[in-house]
Amino acid sequence: MHSKTSLRRLIEGNERFVSGAADPVDLVELRKANASGQSPWAAVVACSDSRVAPEIVFDTTIGDLFVVRTAGNVVDELVLASLRFGVHALGAHLIVVLGHYGCGAVQATCDGDTPESLACVCDEVRPSVEVARARAASEKVILCDEAVRRHAEAMADRVRSDAELGDAVPVLWGVYDVASGEVSFQEIDVLDTP
Ligand SMILES: [Zn+2]
Repeated sequence: MHSKTSLRRLIEGNERFVSGAADPVDLVELRKANASGQSPWAAVVACSDSRVAPEIVFDTTIGDLFVVRTAGNVVDELVLASLRFGVHALGAHLIVVLGHYGCGAVQATCDGDTPESLACVCDEVRPSVEVARARAASEKVILCDEAVRRHAEAMADRVRSDAELGDAVPVLWGVYDVASGEVSFQEIDVLDTP
């Protein structure tokens, strides 16, 4: 499957999720059909937030997505290693880094009120908050929302700069709205780059 087809499936799946028209699936049949192997068609990095499950948000099911989740959708060496496996061993055609509005890790970093348990996560988010703070000073953007966007973008850049991933598949980022259910994809034009 082409990476553009993978993106179209994600977009259409999110539209079904938003409208409440999720595809009916037979999980027992799908479980049996996928028992002998997997070939996910996209990889997604998302936050561990209980509202942000990519399989649900994109109306996908068993065998569709290779998902890596960390608090604050932080990309570290273990996440990169997982993505390398998802792409090179399993054949995912596309990587999406999915941030989300209302992210507790980003909010805590913006507030400068970091719980001990999230300290190392917030350390990873902080550079994006500083970028957002500079922008919020001159433009009409809400600091935390802007930080969510800049952080997802920064994590996508981190994936792209990995020697084994950057040239292998397109890397996009997007932001999930926990209220509307909509995912806004960014940098879709990378799919047009030969
Ligand atoms: Zn979050």
